[in-house]
Amino acid sequence: MIALDKPGFVSGYVSFHNSTDLSAWQSVRLPIYCLNGRPGPTTLVMGGLHGDEYEGPVAIESLANTLDTDELVGRLILLPAVNVTAVMAGTRLTPDDGLNMNRVFPGNPNGSITQRIADWITQTLVPVSDHVVDLHSGGRSLNFAPSILLHEVPGEAMKVAKLAATAFGAPFTVLIHEDHADVMIDAVVEKLGKVMIASELGGSGIITHQTVTVATQGLLRMVAALGHLSIQKSLAPSRLVRMPSSDTYLVSDEAMVFAPALSLGAPVRQGDTVGHGHFLDRVDCRPRTYTAPHDGWAICLAGQGLTRRGDVIAIVAESVQ
Ligand SMILES: [Zn+2]
Repeated sequence: MIALDKPGFVSGYVSFHNSTDLSAWQSVRLPIYCLNGRPGPTTLVMGGLHGDEYEGPVAIESLANTLDTDELVGRLILLPAVNVTAVMAGTRLTPDDGLNMNRVFPGNPNGSITQRIADWITQTLVPVSDHVVDLHSGGRSLNFAPSILLHEVPGEAMKVAKLAATAFGAPFTVLIHEDHADVMIDAVVEKLGKVMIASELGGSGIITHQTVTVATQGLLRMVAALGHLSIQKSLAPSRLVRMPSSDTYLVSDEAMVFAPALSLGAPVRQGDTVGHGHFLDRVDCRPRTYTAPHDGWAICLAGQGLTRRGDVIAIVAESVQ
């Protein structure tokens, strides 16, 4: 572990014991940066909870290596690859125990590697932080229009989160309530009344010039808005939308290739064609048309061509008046 109170720039690793078929007494080394400036708030920024999402990790590592601590107010604790074994394997879940890092919070100090890392974040890092930023993308199976995600929580925390989201300047800011919210890092942070900000910055298991640019520039502006830097930059407006109930997600009925009929982030009307499912191994099935369940914006499309039965193929976010 590194000293979180040391002035200036510190980097190092936090080691977690692991025992696998390949390595009986393995030390999983989780990269960590801590930047301390003049007295001020603490922001924890994490990426790589899922190993097949790349914009957040790259933006965090870039920030750690370019920010001048002489200009910094407060402290930034930066974890670009929280689930480092998944990141280096390119997998969503932890290879060693098959767990989903963002479904095991608050964690378990006596559990498997994923549960112990979650417990360490809950017990050690969240209590010393005023703001927690958890950067995700869609992973292999989903592709999101770059978005900041916010939960609707009462009080000052929501005001700060909205300001930070506006400063980030992603094309969309999405109000969301996940069905699995209780086992995410968000629940740990929000129970303490602290500011929680998440994102979906792309997906498909790839990283593009557009998405990494949104992520790196947005993270810098967000850190400034949270009180750490004095920078003024003109922002692209971020459209405020609401994630609909999961009942309205368009889901693949069976294995097929989904071909979108519109671009990610495009406006849609109820009944508009969102895309077609193609059954390429059959001559007795014509392409199936999928239509928008309501007006809104195509916030998410299938991340890969081939989709399996039950995969999400499109989500239409609702406008917020
Ligand atoms: Zn994720």
